[in-house]
Amino acid sequence: MAVPKRRTSKTRKRKRRTHWKLNAPNIVECPQCHEPKLSHRVCPDCGYYDGRKVK
Ligand SMILES: [Zn+2]
Repeated sequence: MAVPKRRTSKTRKRKRRTHWKLNAPNIVECPQCHEPKLSHRVCPDCGYYDGRKVK
């Protein structure tokens, strides 16, 4: 079995653990009511997605 040759330093360990959110919340304008909403999600304001009413 492979065994690590060197102990991971505190700095390396901490660097590995500082992961910011990979994808920032992608907010787009709703084409229906022009409110900011998350892309690829039903608009919470008017309930439209892809030109049709979902909820
Ligand atoms: Zn909307």
